[in-house]
Amino acid sequence: MYNISKIRGDFPILSRTVYGKPLVYLDNGATTQKPRCVVESITDEYYSVNANVHRGVHFLSQQATNLHEASRETVRKFINARSTSEIVFTRGTTESINLVASTFADSQMQAGDEVIVSVMEHHSNIVSWQLQAARKGIVLKVIPMNDRGELLLDEYEKLFSPRTRIVSVTHVSNVLGTINPVDRLIEIAHAHGVPILIDGAQSIPHLPVDVQALDADFYVFSGHKVYGPTGIGVLYGKESWLEKLPPYQGGGEMIKNVSFEKTTFNELPFKFEAGTPDYIGSTALAKALDYVSAIGMKNIEAYEHELTVYAMQRLKEIPGMRIFGEAEQKSSVISFLVGDIHHFDMGTLLDRLGIAVRTGHHCAEPLMHRLGIEGTVRASFALYNTKEEIDQLVAGIGRVAKMFL
Ligand code: PMP
Repeated sequence: MYNISKIRGDFPILSRTVYGKPLVYLDNGATTQKPRCVVESITDEYYSVNANVHRGVHFLSQQATNLHEASRETVRKFINARSTSEIVFTRGTTESINLVASTFADSQMQAGDEVIVSVMEHHSNIVSWQLQAARKGIVLKVIPMNDRGELLLDEYEKLFSPRTRIVSVTHVSNVLGTINPVDRLIEIAHAHGVPILIDGAQSIPHLPVDVQALDADFYVFSGHKVYGPTGIGVLYGKESWLEKLPPYQGGGEMIKNVSFEKTTFNELPFKFEAGTPDYIGSTALAKALDYVSAIGMKNIEAYEHELTVYAMQRLKEIPGMRIFGEAEQKSSVISFLVGDIHHFDMGTLLDRLGIAVRTGHHCAEPLMHRLGIEGTVRASFALYNTKEEIDQLVAGIGRVAKMFL
């Protein structure tokens, strides 16, 4: 049983108004709202446990350390990693990708070596690699897509060469909603002896993910997109790969012994966690993962699928509607334009009706070039959205469209 009114009651912000209208929050691809248990976890830990982790002999420090490490175990379980050594806390998806791009390029790539990305990547999975391209002379190759927004697997296969060192692709597009066939993408990469990073920023909140079943080499995501706090994210890496990569940043936590002659590094995952970690954030992230696990990722997936199918059908009834992203496998992200109405005008006017959507290029400018547009309006749904809210969106778009007639 999916108890939507109980779920909505868990998110205090959903009952606020904007411009005197009930808030219809459809910008979940950018960030999700937080359930009470996540916010309370933050205040509770600051009020009653706060102490720096790992180095303290005193009671509070040990309690904080236990909470932090228990959170790592919660993350491990959530994505079914083999060991907590494979769970690195970062600031988010962006930092996780930069960590891998930088340390992988440094240790595993030479000038002329290649990385394969896709045309639908978020800037964080393009620019992180471009920085390495500029530094090390590595080359980016790009998987194209068809007009429905599905990656072309035959073309992907053709991109592999003896110089291919890594593949880095998104699980779910933050613009098109396409759920990429990552199991196939991983299989093909491995058939060429190449490791693969999956950007899970837009999949983790919506689908069950099992990194062992997928056999992903790296899997990254942000806490704030899965009902957790901002400022914390995860890098999952197979232990064998994380062992091979050098440290990313230097500082406390990541060392074993330091002298001016020689420094040795800590074991996994601490080798990649320089400085005081966001131990308050890790506890709150674990609370968020417990929250969605209690509802059930399969239930969330099924509920959001129903919302998406309904929204696609209702939106298509609007004259002049153009939807970008009609993949067979589609998550709860819908990008669109209506007639000649500029995405910014549409977003601004919907906002006055209390409807929060995102407008612009969504940090995916190369994809906008591929689509031949500057930007879109994007509605993205979460576990707490309803068909009534979709009706309000459709009515709102209708009102805006009339103003432009
Ligand atoms: N990848 C994808 C697919 C995303 O949607 C986002 C966020 N929009 C990111 C990466 C970056 O996430 P963050 O800003 O949390 O690091």
